[in-house]
Amino acid sequence: MNPLVFASRAVRYWKRNGRYWSCSKAANALLAHVAMRLKLRYVPAWPVVAKIEATNICNGTCRLCPVGRKEPGHRPFGMIGWELYCRLIEGVKSTLHAIDLTNWGESLLHPRIMEMIRYAHEARIYTYLSTNMHTVRPEHVEGLARSGLDELSLSLHGLSQETYAAYQPGFDFAQACETIGQLVAASERLGPTGKMMKIKLNFVVTAVNEHEVSALPDFAKRYGVEYLLSEPSLNLRFEVSPEMALRRPNRAREIIAEAVETWLPRKGRYDRPLYRRVLDDPRLMFSPKKVVTCDWPWMKLVVNWDGRATICCGSYDLADDVGCYTGQPIKQLWNSLPYRLCRATFGNSTNGKNEKKVLCGRCPGLLL
Ligand code: SF4
Ligand code: SF4
Repeated sequence: MNPLVFASRAVRYWKRNGRYWSCSKAANALLAHVAMRLKLRYVPAWPVVAKIEATNICNGTCRLCPVGRKEPGHRPFGMIGWELYCRLIEGVKSTLHAIDLTNWGESLLHPRIMEMIRYAHEARIYTYLSTNMHTVRPEHVEGLARSGLDELSLSLHGLSQETYAAYQPGFDFAQACETIGQLVAASERLGPTGKMMKIKLNFVVTAVNEHEVSALPDFAKRYGVEYLLSEPSLNLRFEVSPEMALRRPNRAREIIAEAVETWLPRKGRYDRPLYRRVLDDPRLMFSPKKVVTCDWPWMKLVVNWDGRATICCGSYDLADDVGCYTGQPIKQLWNSLPYRLCRATFGNSTNGKNEKKVLCGRCPGLLL
């Protein structure tokens, strides 16, 4: 990257987020990064960012999402309790830079979501939330603007009713546009002076909507929001098991080919080449050898609404949980045996029996 561009981005970043950093947080982040580089199993630092799930209940039926597709193996539906949430924030606030309150589910369905944002904000943590926009009620529009939320991500994977509903069936494009307008207007009107929340469209580029990518900058400008183009996650692992990849590779290839054909963009930078590689060899999907960089086990804490921790945001099956946060110091959980086994799979000794039991032992660095 051009050094001038880098410097200007760094200045903008610091202006916006500097107040969430402290010397001790920066030292912790540096230590976590070094531990990751050295692939240490025991991390002498604590989470730098966290994903704390407000709820795993959702009103959506998104075609590529296991929640929307109602895949089995998941935890019961519920909402995080206030006590647990506060204990978690108190446990991590001294090192945490940012918190995302969305994991599996639609966070705005939590009746105390505004208080949750405010609590984290007052603990000097950068707050982030994403929504499908079809749970936004009038009280959310004003509440989010006043809450101190730093960043709001709006899922919009199409610029017409046809492409929008192809990914998010049952959702109305016109209603989504109206909600974007309302959120922006409220944020301008009510946001803290000099610090409006950042509102960003998340546009997952697929074969269905890639012809609309060129129109997105103008669309975003019209609403006064930013946008992010994301690569699609096909979540093939819900249809192709490790057993199938190993023993019935032709059947696995058929399933992968159909998903690739239906969803993967044909051109551009959003097609995730790894999906095409697993078409050749489906066993790659579950290989412990890391072909993609992954920093979750060293940097990011994920706690679901029920207090159970997962190694990353893609871990869905209850059987892959790495522990349960029950109020003990977060430091005990962070370096417990399942976490250490996950980190061990990044080293050279990836054939240990125990390491294969954890999710990272069946993942090339990106859950496909
Ligand atoms: S809105 Fe989010 S959690 Fe709900 S089905 Fe869609 S992608 Fe999944
Ligand atoms: S399961 Fe895969 S993506 Fe998740 S933390 Fe482990 S290596 Fe990273």
